[in-house]
Amino acid sequence: MSPEKPIVYIISAPSGSGKSTLVNELLKLVPNLDFSISYTTRDPRGSEQNGKEYYFISREEFEQMIQADEFLEHATVFGKSYYGTARRFLREAEQNGHDLLLDIDVQGAAQIKQKCPDAVSIFVLPPDRQTLEWRLNHRSEDDKATIQRRLSAASREIENYDKYDYIIINGELKESIEQLTAIVRFARVRKTLLAEDRRVMDLADQCRLTRVGKRLRPILDSFRNLPPPAQP
Ligand code: ADP
Ligand code: 5GP
Repeated sequence: MSPEKPIVYIISAPSGSGKSTLVNELLKLVPNLDFSISYTTRDPRGSEQNGKEYYFISREEFEQMIQADEFLEHATVFGKSYYGTARRFLREAEQNGHDLLLDIDVQGAAQIKQKCPDAVSIFVLPPDRQTLEWRLNHRSEDDKATIQRRLSAASREIENYDKYDYIIINGELKESIEQLTAIVRFARVRKTLLAEDRRVMDLADQCRLTRVGKRLRPILDSFRNLPPPAQP
């Protein structure tokens, strides 16, 4: 029997939102979930180690991997460095009967969603800009100019929130960890359902008020501001 396809989870967030903190906690709490270690051409920061946070490689090596079709997705992030997810992580997760977690940017998330439409995507937001700035400052990892760059990148990145399946507003850390764990566990439960049960569940879910949201506005507007009815 061929091994079951892993569930692929994608998590994206503007830098400083707390994504790494959440991912580290998630990996401690959920069994059989592998983290895909990306390849990048950027230099290691602080205490980062090759093979732990990233595989740090040269541009030439990265381009050779592109040529050899070794990436599931890759992108140039912040207009500067290459980042990519190696196909082998997905293969290994499948062989081990594990699921796979990708910490990638919005460009990578879009590529994965095209190739793996069932991937579960999660976008993490800070409660507001001021909190993001405070977290970036208190993380003490970047200089002032880098923090300003990250903040302006964040303003652009958050505009992509509606391309994701789930949003976590990372205010209270404990609550966010519980939400993230619930999203991961829910996808596993959903996978165990029969196809017909999944279809019924999804159809009902599409009609939820929170889902219908934006589509209601033009309908309601069409009933408002009508000219007075013509007198007989
Ligand atoms: P990212 O991986 O998104 O760049 P980090 O996980 O490095 O962000 O978090 C940025 C900073 O914010 C870190 O100092 C982290 O300890 C802190 N942090 C993360 N989540 C929360 C939270 N919910 N409340 C307060 N501080 C947080
Ligand atoms: P950082 O350099 O701060 O670690 O990461 C910068 C951005 O690159 C983050 O948004 C992170 O999610 C993203 N990133 C990390 N690995 C990958 C990857 O393999 N592919 C893509 N597309 N983005 C990645």
